[in-house]
Amino acid sequence: MRIVLVGPPGAGKGTQAAYLAKNLAIPHISTGDLFRANISEGTALGKQAKALMDAGKLVPDEVTIGMAQDRMSQPDAEGGFLLDGFPRNVVQAQALDEWLNAEGQKLDAVLDLEVPEDEVVKRIAGRRICRNDSSHVFHVEYSRPKKDGVCDTCGGELYQRGDDTEDTVRTRLEVYHTQTEPIIDHYKGQGLVATISALGKVTEVTERAMQALQMEQAEQA
Ligand code: AMP
Repeated sequence: MRIVLVGPPGAGKGTQAAYLAKNLAIPHISTGDLFRANISEGTALGKQAKALMDAGKLVPDEVTIGMAQDRMSQPDAEGGFLLDGFPRNVVQAQALDEWLNAEGQKLDAVLDLEVPEDEVVKRIAGRRICRNDSSHVFHVEYSRPKKDGVCDTCGGELYQRGDDTEDTVRTRLEVYHTQTEPIIDHYKGQGLVATISALGKVTEVTERAMQALQMEQAEQA
């Protein structure tokens, strides 16, 4: 399957993407993670992305689209992939359509995770992420690790993302509303969108997501 995951920052895209990718046996491709890896490695791309990411703004399309296409062209993505954080505006969505067309592929579904705005700010401001694996996510109130600052899953160090501060979250939400939300209409035009609530336990949301994806598949068959 080829799936796009959409939703505001804090909707739990990364967490859900990790579970869904495992269930569906497809790679989880997160442009945010790819940028963060470039920043850790100190590449030119990482240097270009860092200031924009810290400010909650989008990295320019040319750079992002090229990086996403490179990743989608890797052998492990031949049978499908789950995109998390890409596309993030209509230009990127159109570029993805064109790329898929040229490859003789198509998207199967766009999963839209819905969550109220006040919940987003609470979730993000308390979020702590494992340095080893960004899908190991904790929260200082809602999902505390057994030992402060240490990942329960792998023992990695937990940290707060530089763009997870309340001010930056507000900018990221504005960017989401103005630039990313329009891609939902773009994909509604292609009959691909399944909207689900991202509230509740992680397992409940995964269950909802799997059901929505199965319905999409059945409708298209
Ligand atoms: P994420 O991990 O998806 O929340 O992304 C973190 C940050 O990386 C975003 O706020 C942007 O600065 C940058 N970023 C990730 N994906 C994209 C994209 N598709 N287009 C532009 N910037 C992106």
